[in-house]
Amino acid sequence: MATNTLDDSDGDDYEETESALETALRQLSEAAAQIDVDDGVIERLKHPTRVVEVGVPLKRDDGSVEVFTGYRAQHDDVRGPYKGGLRYHPEVTAEECTGLSMWMTWKCAVMDLPFGGAKGGIVVNPKELSTGEKERLTRRFAEEIRETIGPKKDIPAPDMGTDAQTMAWFMDAYSMQEGETTPGVVTGKPPVIGGSEGREEAPGRSVAIIAREALRYYDKTVDESTVAVQGFGSVGANAARLLDDWGANVVAVSDVNGAAYDTNGLDTHAIPSHEEQPEAVMQYDAPNTLTNEELLELDVDVLVPAALGNVLTADNADDVQADIVVEGANGPTTSAADAILDERDVPVIPDILANAGGVTVSYFEWLQDINRRQWSLERVNDELESMMLSAWGDVRAEVEAGDMSWRDAAYAVALGRVGDAKTSRGLWP
Ligand code: GLU
Repeated sequence: MATNTLDDSDGDDYEETESALETALRQLSEAAAQIDVDDGVIERLKHPTRVVEVGVPLKRDDGSVEVFTGYRAQHDDVRGPYKGGLRYHPEVTAEECTGLSMWMTWKCAVMDLPFGGAKGGIVVNPKELSTGEKERLTRRFAEEIRETIGPKKDIPAPDMGTDAQTMAWFMDAYSMQEGETTPGVVTGKPPVIGGSEGREEAPGRSVAIIAREALRYYDKTVDESTVAVQGFGSVGANAARLLDDWGANVVAVSDVNGAAYDTNGLDTHAIPSHEEQPEAVMQYDAPNTLTNEELLELDVDVLVPAALGNVLTADNADDVQADIVVEGANGPTTSAADAILDERDVPVIPDILANAGGVTVSYFEWLQDINRRQWSLERVNDELESMMLSAWGDVRAEVEAGDMSWRDAAYAVALGRVGDAKTSRGLWP
């Protein structure tokens, strides 16, 4: 993530690119100014409980040894165990994990899940590791952070660069060392070892549900809408396909190489997702192609940035033609872009609500693991739908009552819940 100096003196003057932590802190301050939460609580929430850094040695396939750096940032656990993903990416930093862990606290609170927020990862490019190397690195990382995590303490999950297989290795390493099979230590596992049906599609499903509700709120219908999706990984592809199934015209989808574009609507099921075949979007026979930058500026009803953080910036926010932005990725909109889009009356439905289906089905998975009882896909999707609608209703009520942006309203709901829990438990000693 790019670095910068934020000048908070007047609240406006800040450089464009900012780290996830800077964005998260700015969003917290802005939301805190709009609602009635104790200053001491806000002060506590500006700081994580702990950020653990570990060295993770790996014997490479050629016999050489390399040591990677791993992190686990635990932001807050006042409402329940820390919860959040593990990211394998060359740009992972302690600061980024901390910012992302804060978002997890709000995401769990806005969904009213009994979890707090965490995030971790390893500074590594997973594309440069063989499968065997990835397995050894994951097992050793699990061992290095074993004391920090646990099914009642802190429950990791997949994030960028990790998947169900990574979680299976992680769960196995933890279980072997603890001497008992402990499926509840991570979520996002394959169903055969205690994973939940529907977990993989869940973040994309929640993005689609929230896009549908947002369209309704602004007096549009899904089947008369056009949609552009940046990123065709698990979030973007599942969101695009569901909206397509519900009748939307998905005109553009992209991966790292660029976008397939068809004003008549793409067949989203015919384009392989990143999981099905990496970087295959541009091989699809679309009538037109676009760059990722052009996709963000399409005149569509709904724009879903579902790839990376910081893609909507002060440089392009003025050029966004979409009527509604629904955040699929974590942190795709910088603070400066948020301000510009707000000024231009382009609603931005925030990540902590829109992509929260992932952690919500993680919660279902954890319940299934604890109870040793698997739910059907139908039950998972029904309960996800009702929890998304309930969170949407809570946030919408704040929007309407406080004349707030959707992001501030989601923060108001989350901060209200976390703040009440902190006040009720008090500060010890
Ligand atoms: N990494 C996902 C997120 O950012 C899921 C976290 C989880 O399931 O714990 O929401």
